Amino acid sequence: MQDFRLSTLLEPGLAEVRAYPASSGSFVARLDSNEAPALFSPDACAALAGALVPDAWNRYPDARATELRAAIAARAGASPDEVLVGAASDEVIALLLTALRRPRAPGESPRALTVTPTFPMYRLNAKVRGFDVVEVPLDAAWDLDVGAMCAAIEASRPNLVFLASPNNPTGALFSIDRLRAVIAAASESIVVIDEAYIDFAPTGRSQLSLLRAFPNVVVLQTLSKVGLASLRVGWMIGPAELVREVDKVRQPYNVTTPSQRAATLVLRELGDELERVRAVVIAERERLSASISRLGLVVSPSDANFLWVETPGPAAPVLAALAARGISVRGYHEAGERLARRLRVTVGLASENDYLLDVLAGAL
Ligand SMILES: *Cc1c(COP(=O)(O)O)cnc(C)c1O
Repeated sequence: MQDFRLSTLLEPGLAEVRAYPASSGSFVARLDSNEAPALFSPDACAALAGALVPDAWNRYPDARATELRAAIAARAGASPDEVLVGAASDEVIALLLTALRRPRAPGESPRALTVTPTFPMYRLNAKVRGFDVVEVPLDAAWDLDVGAMCAAIEASRPNLVFLASPNNPTGALFSIDRLRAVIAAASESIVVIDEAYIDFAPTGRSQLSLLRAFPNVVVLQTLSKVGLASLRVGWMIGPAELVREVDKVRQPYNVTTPSQRAATLVLRELGDELERVRAVVIAERERLSASISRLGLVVSPSDANFLWVETPGPAAPVLAALAARGISVRGYHEAGERLARRLRVTVGLASENDYLLDVLAGAL
């Protein structure tokens, strides 16, 4: 009898990743996950609570999410058959990587390309599905390095290119001309434009128009960053032909009835609430950014609901000082080099931001 060895069964990519480091615990100010502050009105919360109750608890959800897809399509100026709904965008990322993993040549691994630093779920989801992941550093201003991107695309011929714009953790939208150049260079790939933070960017900067300009673009959006992270609702908008294929790897009941109903209500009737979240967060972002700068830290321009901050010395002691006072922000110093002094701070309520400023001033 051979000894049982788990490692002989595991997808090799698992050895190269760690489970997503979601933070837990209780904090005075939780500013580490880019959630929106709780700003919905009591009336909106009551309407949401009502929407959560299904007509029939015993029935499966609508596997086609008909109402929700129609609401998303109407808002995006797309057709419902160009919309696929997931248990938020994390699931859609995984579905795309599952459907689009044919190697370019027999015996090769499929490849995914993204930038660094960026949202870690692209790499994680790709690695656990056997992809090789190519990571191209952003330039000194945290924008796309078009030359390096085009060279990497030509050399690696990735199945998928993932670009979060606005990018997490760096905060800004990518320049639209650079984005177009990269999409054009990746004409053999699907280019995923992740708009998780688009609600906090200047209006009119939605990248949905790229869908009509290029046949190989998919746009991801989510309700998670505008105040509804608990629902787990996100979607992709892309070519109907691609949506039909990705739909085959989607579990039929991936989005629960309460989530479908609440999300449909939000999109159809609670636009004013989303607008208020957007306005409050943007105003607080500008105030917090100016105040942190006055403390002597460097803050990058942000089109999102968080700030990309450079500390004067190593970030680790600052992170520890904040944690000791119940404030959780995200640190990047473990990656070293140009991230050694970087923190990502979610914009919170005015009171949370004031507390952060207070503690930060003492910590420096
Ligand atoms: C937070 C985030 C998401 C989120 O995902 P959901 O699964 O929709 O909650 C997607 N993309 C980026 C870049 C993010 O930062």
